[in-house]
Amino acid sequence: MSNTGKQHLSFFESVNRNFDRAAAHTSIPEGLLEQIKVCNAVYEMNFPVKIGNQFQVIQAYRVQHSHHRLPTKGGIRFSHLVNRDEVMALAALMSYKCALVDVPFGGAKGGVKISPRKYNEQQLEKITRRYTTELIRKNFIGPGLDVPAPDYGTGSREMAWILDTYQTFNHGEIDSAACVTGKPENQSGIRGRTEATGRGVFYGIRQFLSYADDCKAVGLTPGIAGKTMVIQGLGNVGSYSGTISQEEGDVKIIGVSEIEGTIVSEKGINMEKLLKYRKDKGTIIGFPGTKALPDRDDWVAIDCDILVPAALENQITTDNAKKVKARIIAEAANGPVTSEAADILNKKGVAILPDMYLNAGGVTVSYFEWLKNLSHMRFGRMEKRFTENSYSNLVSMVERLTGLSVGVRERDVLTHGADEIDLVRSGLEDTMVNAYDQIREIYKKKKTIEDLRAAAFVCALNKIAGDYIRLGIFP
Ligand code: NAD
Repeated sequence: MSNTGKQHLSFFESVNRNFDRAAAHTSIPEGLLEQIKVCNAVYEMNFPVKIGNQFQVIQAYRVQHSHHRLPTKGGIRFSHLVNRDEVMALAALMSYKCALVDVPFGGAKGGVKISPRKYNEQQLEKITRRYTTELIRKNFIGPGLDVPAPDYGTGSREMAWILDTYQTFNHGEIDSAACVTGKPENQSGIRGRTEATGRGVFYGIRQFLSYADDCKAVGLTPGIAGKTMVIQGLGNVGSYSGTISQEEGDVKIIGVSEIEGTIVSEKGINMEKLLKYRKDKGTIIGFPGTKALPDRDDWVAIDCDILVPAALENQITTDNAKKVKARIIAEAANGPVTSEAADILNKKGVAILPDMYLNAGGVTVSYFEWLKNLSHMRFGRMEKRFTENSYSNLVSMVERLTGLSVGVRERDVLTHGADEIDLVRSGLEDTMVNAYDQIREIYKKKKTIEDLRAAAFVCALNKIAGDYIRLGIFP
């Protein structure tokens, strides 16, 4: 149980409750289910860092949930709330997520128990490098072992420090750039990684709303355009979920919640302008055309079509689930709806697009980045010009045969060869569309499956169990 109240399950317990419910719909042997469920390795460390003249002991973790495929993969979180249970839950979710979207990795997660706001850039660099060194010492990082990525409180800057530290200790290792993903583009990163989780959230919501019967079941008309949305958390995931849904999906964002409060506007909030406003002023409160709600936590109760929790776990609990008016909860964050709160929402007929599916865009593009690092070449480099020349010849031939001519802009569109960003977005879209369709098929086929989360779990568990059964157990 959590420290906060007896009635709440801890995050890992909540994930495992969802696991158990879904497992009942599979024919996986009990012992194998237990093996899939447990964390294979939990590394808890305490290391010293000198901040100014003071010594500080930092508590940190790296959890490898499942070794059925290697490397293991999962982000690193910097937060004062980090604890063992949380990192275990997040690592487990990574295993299920990777299996679901056919990313050939086991799940892992890292956490450093610090509040990043309390440290300057130099101090954060020290902490990140020391944490990386601890991982190297215990073989908890490496292109074929365990590959971290950004998560809450970290970004491409921290990933570059991890890369540099790893390379310092593994001088000459040719594939060393693949030891971490989410790196800056000019430091062996990939275009489209920063936006990937938010973009995947958009593709996932759009795919759900493309099915008329799924929409009807929650009382919505088909299609994403014109739907109203409320977002909690304007970090990496929340900001891109919002901007992309608005710009490419024509979604109307009517509420945004951040640490400093919640703002609403029936007319809609321009995300680009809001992000700039917050960067300049340090707050979303006072953004022109919006009003602030008296209580920040009332974002949950705003009447809208889609609620997007994109901050942290345990945001929608048995305490506030009854207040939800939205028809869809799009779990952009990991674990934002507790397992028990989901029971209440299911009864209310609210569709929950589960985290292990909806925020899988990040790990999907991380996988592309890892592949790019191993191949030592940018995607599209070999074929872009060749494709453009072929298409150009084809257009010229059509012009010759018809006696008509194609305008300059049309010719550009028709002859465009795919660049890295085009290929990354295309691969991501395909992954999100296919994964939703797999979940949906399972959900529709077996009427006893409670919800989309259970269907997603069934899909993931069958794939992981299949690996174990084919591999056998050593020795
Ligand atoms: P982030 O640190 O970039 O942003 C999180 C934002 O949430 C911050 O702006 C913070 O101020 C805000 N926030 C925190 N508590 C809040 C509260 N109570 N109310 C309103 N706002 C609050 O983190 P992120 O990388 O965007 O991650 C967010 C969630 O998405 C996490 O659950 C993470 O595990 C998950 N996730 C992230 C990625 C990724 O690629 N970054 C991938 C998959 C899942």
